[in-house]
Amino acid sequence: MPDSRYIGRFAPTPSGYLHFGSLVAAVASYLDARAAGGRWLVRMEDLDPPREMPGAQAAILQTLERYGFEWDGPVVRQSERGDAYAAVVQQWLRSGLAYACTCSRKQLEGSGGIYPGTCRDAGHDWHGDVAIRIRVPELEYAFVDRVQGEFRQHLGREVGDFVIRRRDGLYAYQLAVVLDDAWQGMTDIVRGADLLDNTPRQLYLQELLGAAHTRYLHVPLIVQPDGHKLGKSYRSPPLAAEQAAPLLLRALGALGHAAPAELAGATPAEVLAWGVAHWDATRIPRVLTLEDARL
Ligand SMILES: [Zn+2]
Repeated sequence: MPDSRYIGRFAPTPSGYLHFGSLVAAVASYLDARAAGGRWLVRMEDLDPPREMPGAQAAILQTLERYGFEWDGPVVRQSERGDAYAAVVQQWLRSGLAYACTCSRKQLEGSGGIYPGTCRDAGHDWHGDVAIRIRVPELEYAFVDRVQGEFRQHLGREVGDFVIRRRDGLYAYQLAVVLDDAWQGMTDIVRGADLLDNTPRQLYLQELLGAAHTRYLHVPLIVQPDGHKLGKSYRSPPLAAEQAAPLLLRALGALGHAAPAELAGATPAEVLAWGVAHWDATRIPRVLTLEDARL
């Protein structure tokens, strides 16, 4: 039965063009939303202007259009949401939930990425070029991902107080994504498994905001045949417009939905329509090798 309250999204970062990995996430989020009779929104996660590639936003939207995706409502840009982020950070600073951190990158070396709490009770002035961190509780957060299964993380021991506004004044992804998902009424987050270990931090922020928890589905990462992650140097090529239908079929195959041979000559819209009609998220594999993805 269609769930008309389902709201999902695809949220690309315009630091580059869409590649095959992002196409797999887009296809999964689109089909999951449409198969549920829900809405599907596109949000541009352009929080970091220095890392943005000129022209990437327009190129991403054009690729989505050429690949047959139809989104609901206007594209929301995080670069236009600064006032909303600032208001929440101010509120948390005043209540003492958030605090200023003056630690340099060098000072934090050797802490294994877990903030040791150095500035927690230092009472640093939060004006000026300081990072803002949120206090985390000594608690384990757990959730059941629809594909990856149960995931647990102890925020105090495995993460530590984390940054919600960077020293350079830019807002952190963790904060923006949770505020936007709540503001846009998201019910379902479908995205790449590289963000799986961000989820407990986001559950915690949802709790602080009094926002409803969302369901999660993390699509498989593409790994090397030996199971290792692809190195940072590996970049799959940008998506060519004339390859739309074959690459959509390949993305469907990677998601456990191999299409019948008759679809070989179909248009992108026809491929997506077939995907909506046959979508079954329980068929999505937990991991994907380069070979499965045939890159
Ligand atoms: Zn600090």
